[in-house]
Amino acid sequence: MAITQSTTAASPSPSGLLAEMQLRVPQMVEQLGEFVNLESPSLNVEHLQVSAKYLAKLFAKVMGKPAEIIPGANGPHVHWKGSDDTKVLIVGHHDTVFSLGTTATRPFSVEGDIARGPGIFDMKAGIIQAIHGLSAIRDSYHVEMLITADEEVGSESSRELIEARARATGAVLVLEPSADGGALKIARKGVGTFTVQIAGRASHAGLEPEKGINALVELATQVQRIVAMARPELGTTVTPTVATAGNAENVVPDAAMIKVDVRVVLPEEKDRVEREMSQLKPVVDGATIKVSGCVNRPPMHESAGRKLFGVAETVAKELGIKNLQGVAVGGGSDGNFTAAIGVPTLDGMGAVGGGAHGVSEHVLISTMAERAALVAGVARALVNR
Ligand SMILES: [Zn+2]
Repeated sequence: MAITQSTTAASPSPSGLLAEMQLRVPQMVEQLGEFVNLESPSLNVEHLQVSAKYLAKLFAKVMGKPAEIIPGANGPHVHWKGSDDTKVLIVGHHDTVFSLGTTATRPFSVEGDIARGPGIFDMKAGIIQAIHGLSAIRDSYHVEMLITADEEVGSESSRELIEARARATGAVLVLEPSADGGALKIARKGVGTFTVQIAGRASHAGLEPEKGINALVELATQVQRIVAMARPELGTTVTPTVATAGNAENVVPDAAMIKVDVRVVLPEEKDRVEREMSQLKPVVDGATIKVSGCVNRPPMHESAGRKLFGVAETVAKELGIKNLQGVAVGGGSDGNFTAAIGVPTLDGMGAVGGGAHGVSEHVLISTMAERAALVAGVARALVNR
């Protein structure tokens, strides 16, 4: 069904918007099934192209106005604009963490109220909901949507574009899945991964161990130092997650590697951890250390989401959504970038469900209409504020 845009027709009341979305649920579920079964693993450019084309067609069909496909090094992004006078940016991503072929064993399925499939919760359902929600309000004239191709792998090829559109519009809604019980996400930790590479010298562990430089012994010390960088009282976690060393049981290892997951709430903690990581010094004579990585997603501070959450609360009440919560979470998203450049950002505007990135990933079909109405209602309120 094509919805013709008109800037003169009245935008529906909250209850009218919700009723319209309820009528659309069968259509949304059908399109969600098509979208999920396409499969769009991060960095699989060929499949991301198919997925981007599908989305562009869906925009044209549902919004009555085509989207632009923007090529990117990690796959194409899809950008839809209601006009050249936009005041709200809705951000999403069409890549998923699931490898190609996942639908062979786990295709899109519906069982009662539960829809399952790879990438359905993070975040294909959120994208479908937002497109339908927007199509029902005339205020979509002042809204744009940017669906990127590489969020799950750090947004390297989309970050600049996201930041530019965020600055141009001045308010950002992110379609990441909601938190427990459908809560919105008003703050996110900054996230980074570091790699510590240790070089030593191999020697025979039985004949002349003294001639070796043991990278594993060096690793053991560095792990302790890295762990000590955490400041739980400030929300900073520093967690060694992967380590390798050596390759034969009778050889002094000449190489070792540590991967470290870092999460921070405070911008100054990002700077501190980056500095301390870069200053790690070897203790074993002759060993060398090379550190790479950074906190590539800066923290999304609560102040970025607070104001917009107030708007969302009002809209939720009008729609009859009870007890909407706003929570701080540890994971990062593209909302971290937009909040860090000072643009008010509200995240978790996507699907209600659970099991993101896992085999139990699912969404609740009974929430699709109200969430579609919520994202459109909040966008409308921001356009008219
Ligand atoms: Zn996501």
